[in-house]
Formats: sequence, C-alpha cells, structure tokens
Amino acid sequence: MTSVSTLPKIELHLHLDCSLSFNAVSKLAPGVTREEYASDYIAPARCTNLAEFLSRAPKGVVLMQDEPSLRITVEDLFHQLQADNVIYAELRFAPLLHLERGLSAERVVDIVNRATEHMSRATGIEARLILCTLRHFTKQQSIATARLVKSYQGSRVVALDIAGDEAGFPLTAHIEAYDFARANNLFRTAHAGEACGPESVWETLRLLEPTRIGHGVRSIEDPELVRHLRQHRIHLEICPLSNIQIVPEIADMAHHPIDLLYRQHVPLNINTDTRMLTATTLTRNYEEVSRVFGWGPREFLETNLMGLDAAFVDETVKTILRAKIDASKFVPNLA
Ligand SMILES: [Zn+2]
Repeated sequence: MTSVSTLPKIELHLHLDCSLSFNAVSKLAPGVTREEYASDYIAPARCTNLAEFLSRAPKGVVLMQDEPSLRITVEDLFHQLQADNVIYAELRFAPLLHLERGLSAERVVDIVNRATEHMSRATGIEARLILCTLRHFTKQQSIATARLVKSYQGSRVVALDIAGDEAGFPLTAHIEAYDFARANNLFRTAHAGEACGPESVWETLRLLEPTRIGHGVRSIEDPELVRHLRQHRIHLEICPLSNIQIVPEIADMAHHPIDLLYRQHVPLNINTDTRMLTATTLTRNYEEVSRVFGWGPREFLETNLMGLDAAFVDETVKTILRAKIDASKFVPNLA
C-alpha cells in the first residue's frame, strides 16, 4: 500500500536556517537537551503573530556562522528531505545573517552552494538555492543580496526572496533589489499575505513583480486577487502547518484556505517552511491536508506538478523530474 510518505515530492519553500533537527543542534551546540530544543528552538504551536514566531529563528542562525556548521546544516536538511521522499527542493537562506564570525557573504554562499552540490549528488535529490533579503534590511543589504544571486548564476543559486516581518517593515527599501533581479533575468519569489492581508499581496505583486508568492494564504479574502493569481499563474508556496502556527486568521487546518484556493485553480503546492520552528515534516503536512480535506493521489499529483511548473529550474531538469513523478506512483489506497 502506498503511503503519503513515499509519494515523490517537490518542496519550494524551505528555510535552511530554521530547519535544524535536534540531531544537528546537538552537533552544533553540544549539551542542548531534547527539552531545551523543544522549548527554545521550536516556536509555540500558536504564535501571537509572525514577529513572535520569528523571535526563535536566531537560535538556529547563531549556530551557523562558520564552514563546518553551515555544512552540517545542509547535510542535516538533505537527510530530512530524504525521509520525506522529496525529489526536488529549493532551500532558502539570508547570506547576510551569517557574517558574525568573519565569513564574507560570498564565502557563505560558496560554502552552502558547495555543500548543496555535494549532498544533491550524494542523495539524488535535485536542489536549488534561493537567497533571501529581509524586510528589516537596508536598501544596500537588499541590493547586495540580489547581486549575490547574479554573481552565482550558473551554480545552485537561482533566485531572490524577501522574508521577515511583513507587518513591521514596508517594501520600499527592496524595490531596487527586485528591479535589479528582474533586469538580470533572475527568478523572484516574495513572502506576502501571511502576516498581512490581500492588500500586501497586491502591493508585493505590483512593486516586486515576483512569479511566486511565499504563503499568500490571505489572498483568499479577496476574490479579485484569487482571480488575478489564477489568470497570471502566480504560484502560491503554501505551508499549511506553519500557516496555522503563525496566521491568527487560520484557527486550524479546517480553516486553512488551501482547499478553497486549489478548487479555484490557483497554482500552489505544499511545503514545510520551517522544519525546526514548526517541528514538522513535509509528510506531516500532506497527512494533515489529507485528513481534513480528503486529499488523495489526484490532488497530490496535481499540486506536485504545479510546484514543478513553478520551480526555478530549466525545462530539461523539469522533464527528468516529471518522469520521476510518474503518475503510477500516485496510486489509490493512500494510508
Ligand atoms: Zn518562509
């Protein structure tokens, strides 16, 4: 019998620095107990808002400030991807957060790029990297991040993202970085519609022109926006269990808009977002969506294929991955 865990999966929205397993934390900070990991590294099951959730993120980042620790983190994440049977993943991180112990931003990207290359070959999981600017970053930091994407073109690094506190900081400082990315044909995604409502998704689409939106779950509040996303094939990187943890408007999975968005033909796929802060796996997200909305092989096949369509990778690689997502693997009788 096929179970959700064995389905081949595409994961597009996954933060490298917020996904350290207990095993990885034990290596990077020997002495941290399971209890401390649970209380200090994992965010509360229901956060007041995104800012509270993000207050835990530095716990991981502070451990990732040199070459060995960055490598351990990448290796650890690939092992988690293997357990979920992910066949293609896009990992994202903000290089400028890893400069506290003397590494340059270029060196950080270089280390993560090489470790990703190594682990991708070792595991057979195809992977790409997205570099994040953050809402609270200055214009210069944002442009520096976009320039890093450009200078690593041809490597595993393929795209620019903006993450961080959506409600606390406007987009103004980041428009130029996205203009630069667009002018240089760099792939672009952006977090929006998580801590703020549909107006934030509209603003992000207007000012940054990304082809994908991280989360975008509150788009459901505006039928005109839902129509726009569908018509323009703006892909939503949905992270169900993380959304429930962060978005006060989504009380539980039954109130999550993923099923409504899917039924309205908005392109989307399922992701974890933060495996450490949310204490989750991709399989768990699939199981919950299946349990509450009755999703089965057809829905998972379709959303994985939509994820692949929106992936920041060329058509040759997509063709190989599509063959791996052979429809025959999505047989009925999901456990
Ligand atoms: Zn995210």
